[in-house]
Amino acid sequence: MTTSTRTLVAAPEISIVIPVYNEQANLPLLFQRLTAVVDQMGRPTEIVFTDDGSKDNSLALLKGFVVQRPDLIRVVEFDRNYGQHMAVMAGFETARGTFIVTLDADLQNPPEEIPKLIAEMDKGHDVVGSYRRDRQDSLLRTLPSRLVNYVRERITGIKMRDQGCMLRGYHRSIVRIIVESGETSTFIPALAQFYAERPTEVEVEHAARHAGASNYTLYMLLRLNFDLMTGFSLVPLQVFTIVGMAVSGGSLLLVFYMLLRRVFVGPEAEGIFTLFAILFFLLGVVITGLGIVGEYVGRIYQQVRARARFRIRTIHEKN
Ligand code: UDP
Ligand code: MG
Repeated sequence: MTTSTRTLVAAPEISIVIPVYNEQANLPLLFQRLTAVVDQMGRPTEIVFTDDGSKDNSLALLKGFVVQRPDLIRVVEFDRNYGQHMAVMAGFETARGTFIVTLDADLQNPPEEIPKLIAEMDKGHDVVGSYRRDRQDSLLRTLPSRLVNYVRERITGIKMRDQGCMLRGYHRSIVRIIVESGETSTFIPALAQFYAERPTEVEVEHAARHAGASNYTLYMLLRLNFDLMTGFSLVPLQVFTIVGMAVSGGSLLLVFYMLLRRVFVGPEAEGIFTLFAILFFLLGVVITGLGIVGEYVGRIYQQVRARARFRIRTIHEKN
């Protein structure tokens, strides 16, 4: 990267990092509202957009922003789509501010809430999380999300009121740890919470998506949550071991019972379908277990292979 050759621009105090994937319908309004907020705060700030391989006009729009506000905007261009968290990660690598704020590009997180986060960081909190006051998503999203929040907290021990809210502030020290962690399938808010020394949370407004549809399919959300569970805990494996032991214990009892029955009542031949039912159930348990082990093995493989997490084609900025 080009950090060392940059001209003598004093490092900004605040960096705002925004992942962008096919957000052309949202970017103009985002730009307008965001710059208004930043100008009003009047503190040295930079805004780092990561174009996560958008297929629409997003990159062109972002490049236009650099021309309009070279004092403010920097754009990281990926060579293809690597996902929201890697886009944020690249933004983190590029950001120079002491306080680093993340935000979604679809205006679900109002930029007007940024000063609230900064105020908490000024007080010395190194991670400022947020929870959405009135979450504007469908029940189909909010109910599973509540469940997942609960399970995640039980399994990983990481306390976050609202894991899905990406409007968050991190001190540079935390961001550095995250960048250096070198993790590929990770969940940035959880990682930050894990390392935080003085975390806090604030309530923020939440809006429906300004335009377009969520980039996340059910399958992607599922995978993200697997990342979250397996990335921060071995509990899924341990639960599985415990289930396995319980089933073995139960079957052993059954074997004893059958033996006794054979002696005292005689052999039995009926109940073959019950047997099948039990077998199929156990087969399901075994396959699930294989799957869980596979989740971990896959992640180990990814990590061991140590392939670059993403490739930055170029960084658009004033030079
Ligand atoms: N995003 C991204 N890469 C992706 C998917 C999403 O950079 O592969 C960005 C997207 O542009 C937005 C943020 O991540 O700024 C959240 O995405 P989205 O609104 O689709 O998720 P949701 O709000 O439904 O969880
Ligand atoms: Mg969204």
